[in-house]
Amino acid sequence: MTHPTAASADLFTRAQQVIPSGVNSPVRAFGSVGGTPPFLTNAKGALLTDADGTEYVDLVGSWGPMILGHANERVVEAVREAAGHGLSFGAPQPGEVSLAEEVVSRIAPVEQLRLVNSGTEATMSALRVARAATGRDVVVKFAGCYHGHVDALLAEAGSGVATFAMPGSAGVTAATARDTVVLPYGDREALTALFAERGHEIAAIITEAAPANMGVVTPLEVDGVGFNRFLAETAHAAGALLISDEVLTGFRASREGYYGVDGPGAQGTTDEAWAPDLMTFGKVIGGGLPVGAFGGRKDLMGLLAPAGPVYQAGTLSGNPLATAAGLATLEGLDEAAYTTLGSASRALQQMVADALTTAGVPHVIQTAGTLFSVFFREQPVETYEDAKAQDTAAFTRFFHAMLDGGVYLPPSAFEAWFVSTAHTDEILDRIAAALPAAAGAAAQG
Ligand SMILES: *Cc1c(COP(=O)(O)O)cnc(C)c1O
Repeated sequence: MTHPTAASADLFTRAQQVIPSGVNSPVRAFGSVGGTPPFLTNAKGALLTDADGTEYVDLVGSWGPMILGHANERVVEAVREAAGHGLSFGAPQPGEVSLAEEVVSRIAPVEQLRLVNSGTEATMSALRVARAATGRDVVVKFAGCYHGHVDALLAEAGSGVATFAMPGSAGVTAATARDTVVLPYGDREALTALFAERGHEIAAIITEAAPANMGVVTPLEVDGVGFNRFLAETAHAAGALLISDEVLTGFRASREGYYGVDGPGAQGTTDEAWAPDLMTFGKVIGGGLPVGAFGGRKDLMGLLAPAGPVYQAGTLSGNPLATAAGLATLEGLDEAAYTTLGSASRALQQMVADALTTAGVPHVIQTAGTLFSVFFREQPVETYEDAKAQDTAAFTRFFHAMLDGGVYLPPSAFEAWFVSTAHTDEILDRIAAALPAAAGAAAQG
């Protein structure tokens, strides 16, 4: 834990006086890996610079949004241009229409979309619509899936809740917790049994389209039926809805998100029509500015005020800078960009696997489209229990050695690694140079 140098250490001390744990989002505090987080002052392409002038290759990408690399010229120019025309109107503006049109054109189940300011707001609002549409209260979620810090969805959540081994969150009322049923990810029998008993009470199943907040867990097919399709069919048979959370996978796993990987007509799947009723987005959709969105069938989205009875609003929703950044990012994500992302992702997976294998470190790499993560255990990870059974101490040693080698990984064993189109061969070479020492450190248990 040697890396933090004077300026970051000083900032962290000051931060801890005035900000709880010194951070505005828990995982940033390096609590599970120990040490002091570098305070970042600059980012360009695939590189980060901290307050001490130390440079790192970035594999966090602000947890997803920076898919075109940091300070991408097209995105920055779009934001600069928008800023010159006013920072916020609190009234309709053209960028909202263009961004919604782009999403609707890419994601078949989304007929209408509403913009919010974060992924948390998106899932919270989608859940409200689902409860209003069905007149039911109960929501089913899966252990290890993270849907933002919505009260009803924090039980056995992934991301920071997993990183700090918390069962859920204090401050959630018993009544709220009672309306949430948590099942093991991928457990079709448990879901079928639950619906047999309580189907008439269930408003919705919410799932990550591919779990990526306990590390990446690939949804499995059984007899040619993918897990997401199974969820849709199970929900619909009981008059419940499926909310597919693509905050992380959206516009990253493929051009159409994870629905483009396992939806009808996707390569290797059957054409059997199925669709989630509501979908949520965030991260990439804002290109680094605060944007979330939820959308789906027109009849469901029509329940929103002012036409319908479901209230949902936002002073800064559809903000012109945010929509400019999101739109410029999606425009930059053409087929060529996904090809670049895919090859960078695969090359990185291969070099990590090689280094860990050479050092004799048990590991498994799992993918969802161009998204991937590395688990420090031998067997495939299918559930949250599997993910928790990995060797987090080995990850911690690996993490710090990578940081010493100038590579900034997510500071948690339960997170995906994020590449961007700025992860060129030269950048990948710099990661390759850091890997042998880090794999060696991981091996020294
Ligand atoms: C990040 C994330 C969220 C929460 O988004 P915020 O913008 O952090 O509120 C919700 N769902 C998933 C799948 C996520 O990865």
